[in-house]
Amino acid sequence: MSHSSNKQRVIVLGAGVIGLTTALVLQRSNKYQVLIVSEHIVTTPDPSSESITVDNFEFRDPTTVPALKMASPYSGAHWRSLSTNDDKKSQSFEKYTYNAMMKLVETDPTCPIKVIKGIDLYKGDPTNSWYFDFVRDFKVLQKHELPEGIKLGVEYSTLVINSPEYLVWLYKLFVKAGGIVKQARVDSLRELEQFETEFGLSNQQKHNSDLIIVNCSALGSAKLVDVQDPLVHPVRGQVAIVWAPQVQRTVTRIGGKFMRYVIPRGNGTVILGGTHFAYDYNEKVDDQTTIEILRETLELTPELVPDTSLSSDQRLDELSKKVLAVKVGFRPGRVGGVRIEEDKFYGKSGDKVKVIHNYGHSGFGIQSSWGYATEVYKMLQSSKL
Ligand SMILES: Cc1cc2nc3c(=O)[nH]c(=O)nc-3n(C[C@H](O)[C@H](O)[C@H](O)COP(=O)(O)OP(=O)(O)OC[C@H]3O[C@@H](n4cnc5c(N)ncnc54)[C@H](O)[C@@H]3O)c2cc1C
Repeated sequence: MSHSSNKQRVIVLGAGVIGLTTALVLQRSNKYQVLIVSEHIVTTPDPSSESITVDNFEFRDPTTVPALKMASPYSGAHWRSLSTNDDKKSQSFEKYTYNAMMKLVETDPTCPIKVIKGIDLYKGDPTNSWYFDFVRDFKVLQKHELPEGIKLGVEYSTLVINSPEYLVWLYKLFVKAGGIVKQARVDSLRELEQFETEFGLSNQQKHNSDLIIVNCSALGSAKLVDVQDPLVHPVRGQVAIVWAPQVQRTVTRIGGKFMRYVIPRGNGTVILGGTHFAYDYNEKVDDQTTIEILRETLELTPELVPDTSLSSDQRLDELSKKVLAVKVGFRPGRVGGVRIEEDKFYGKSGDKVKVIHNYGHSGFGIQSSWGYATEVYKMLQSSKL
């Protein structure tokens, strides 16, 4: 079948949150026919797959994609700015995404994103207070509302994203908009040319415009033979998923050994995190870390175990009984930040292949995804390559 032959052909490499959002923005612009090529694609868990039941809630693990191959389904996720006060560019992507996601929540009830109260607790002075003036419903917490050892606490409306469900939702929107998907692994960007057949075009139609490739392969960019970016590296993070439908706010503690966070996913499950180890490839769960995460997040969010008559050890024990899964994920880190940049190579038949790289979003890929996707669109409009 021929897919809209008068549109420019784009191949997006990667079906994580960055690939899917970028592909969706380009496909919906009506200027491009987009094909996603990706080794891994997140799907809804098979109802016959193994499950665990806590308080009558049946949980099937949605994160079956190998963690070192794909970060997105392992993500919390919530919108909490990681841009510093000086980094206006990164701020603009986070702002854009905050507004875009707010609009999604307001206009599409099927979207697995929710707006809830977000609490950020700072042990020291914040280095990224820029967002205090930006977010909705912002207020500074009173001293008596703060847990021990916290210097500043703020509250605002934030977004929580059920990341595995969100990926499936984005995928469906992309296909509905006419996008094409091919599940395959490549060893280079050049290899993507072979998938031009998926567009179903004649040779004449193919030569009417250059092929465009958007590289959203995250950690994959360290290995693709014609990218081999030495700056890309994993940033390991461990989280626990617990059943706690009573938790209705995010709490993030900034400062201390690790950032600790509590993120309700909107379906009764809550992500408790986390850790942050750059260049660590260990996929195994560390049990001691799980206990530390449970203990510290329980201190930050007492409603994780509503029974206040219990001792702290009993409370920890109660929380342990609500654990559905413990996971290790790998943020696609990059020294120097995200690579959002034009590039090109000459293809098999001597035609120019335009490339836009969009990878290396470390711990902020979801909360900045719509901003980066729209930036790719703008770059294609103004490209001189
Ligand atoms: C524990 C944890 C918590 C997080 N919390 C948050 C949060 O609260 N907020 C937030 O915004 N972000 C958060 N993040 C970060 C966020 O998950 C990432 O920034 C984001 O998922 C990156 O998306 P991506 O699409 O670039 O990469 P990925 O999801 O890794 O996707 C890469 C894609 O490329 C494909 N690919 C790669 N190489 C090849 C190849 N050679 N051939 C074919 N396909 C290939 C893969 O199959 C995959 O589909 C968190 C991450 C972790 C691990």
